[in-house]
Amino acid sequence: MPAGLPPAVETLIAQLRKLPGVGEKTATRYVLHLLGRDPDAAVALREALAAVSDRVRPCTRCGFLAEGDLCGFCSDTSRDHSTICVVEGVGDLLAFEKVGEYRGAYHVLGGSVSALRGITPDRLRLAELVARVDAGGIREVIVTTGADAEGETTALYIRKVLEGRAVRVTRPATGMPMGSSIEYLDAVTLMRALRGRRDL
Ligand SMILES: [Zn+2]
Repeated sequence: MPAGLPPAVETLIAQLRKLPGVGEKTATRYVLHLLGRDPDAAVALREALAAVSDRVRPCTRCGFLAEGDLCGFCSDTSRDHSTICVVEGVGDLLAFEKVGEYRGAYHVLGGSVSALRGITPDRLRLAELVARVDAGGIREVIVTTGADAEGETTALYIRKVLEGRAVRVTRPATGMPMGSSIEYLDAVTLMRALRGRRDL
């Protein structure tokens, strides 16, 4: 941290440094920019941050970001709500939406089962997924957790908890490189993977 900065500036730099990909140099540059020629920029940023932290919560149904109870996908009646695409995180969901081919519903798990990182199944939104299936009207659950060991473990766990229920559980088959997260796949690979899904 550059010496002699006012404490408030130091605090802001320290907070910005917690963001992914932001080091001290970048954080300092952001703050100097905000304190620079455009005084409205800091106010606008403050209001945007306040709005996000006050109003945005996980969707009560799928776990995506929502203002109010349901997110834009869950409240969109033009989508096919009989198909649920299970993703590890919000970033994966956004990757599917960028491709634009999938028109069903989503379910955000909030991670994958990991013995190494101490993430047990009860820490994911799995009970909520089962409850959605049990509520009826669901024909297919597409499990798109990562093709790494943790993602595969999570997929098998989902198959197990949905066993005996009248729902097809599928998994994208082709073009999913090992150890990759969906978020970083290109659109064509992602589309192929989704089209080539098979029963899990
Ligand atoms: Zn939702």
